[in-house]
Amino acid sequence: MKKLLALGLLIASLSTAAIVGSAPAHAQDNERPRALVQVVKSTPDVTVHTLVAPSSVFSVTSHIIEFKSQLFVVDGQFFAPFAADLKAYTTQLGKPVTRFYISHEHPDHYLGMGDAFPDVTVYALPGVRQHIEKDGPEQIAKWTAKLGPKMVAQHLVLPTRDAHAGREVVDGVALEFATLQDHEAAESLVIKLPELGIYIAQDLLYNGVHLWLPGSTEGWRKALTGLQAESGYTTFLVGHGQPTDRQVIGRNLAYLDTVDRIRRSATGGADYKAQLLQAYPDLGGAALLDIYLPLAYPAKP
Ligand SMILES: [Zn+2]
Repeated sequence: MKKLLALGLLIASLSTAAIVGSAPAHAQDNERPRALVQVVKSTPDVTVHTLVAPSSVFSVTSHIIEFKSQLFVVDGQFFAPFAADLKAYTTQLGKPVTRFYISHEHPDHYLGMGDAFPDVTVYALPGVRQHIEKDGPEQIAKWTAKLGPKMVAQHLVLPTRDAHAGREVVDGVALEFATLQDHEAAESLVIKLPELGIYIAQDLLYNGVHLWLPGSTEGWRKALTGLQAESGYTTFLVGHGQPTDRQVIGRNLAYLDTVDRIRRSATGGADYKAQLLQAYPDLGGAALLDIYLPLAYPAKP
């Protein structure tokens, strides 16, 4: 029931949301909300762009690292229309997408891309790759049954290359890849551009959106504390929400503290949700709470 309610809210908000976005529009689908794209930082050697889906679909992000000769893309959107926006934007840049990274195993970061990017080479951590191979077809079937084939990509592009931690120089630009365990996801890939002070954190960080928290806050808190100790980065690209600064780490830690406090006193899922919405009336993605509440507060037999 709660899942149905969340779905209803999602569909309702999709049909009423304002049309936004700088990605080129197609004449036949002018009526839908669009993802917004912004240039985060630019030097003579590299430009980083961020696309953010509308808040009605949880502000899921994708990032484009534009080198002199090629593009790397990080994460492929939840729903097909926003992956189409991403595709239109990358096409407009006029350089080939030579690597497409998927940061972690959750479907909101890969399910949308298959129809828009059928031919890209997809990189992911080995465990993430195995999870998507197993879970991806089920996710397509599940979400297509809920939202239909226009919203859900019907083609799955599986990762074929393993991503690894380490340093690499691409077209003269230094990149650092690192892996993190047991925070929002079981494991995830982060990509840093030290010369630009950019840290592509994906779902380690949320900005202006409720965090996905069906389980313990412990591992996530540990990962955020580790990130706080890492100096040299000033711009953080999150998995949900607009690019932001270091303050986001403290805001996410405070959110985890609030969740723990509410969990100690909440009488059940409904009370937890009410208290959390009261504590954070301005955050987007409230429908995420409806989706994870049955996991956090399973119905008693
Ligand atoms: Zn996510």
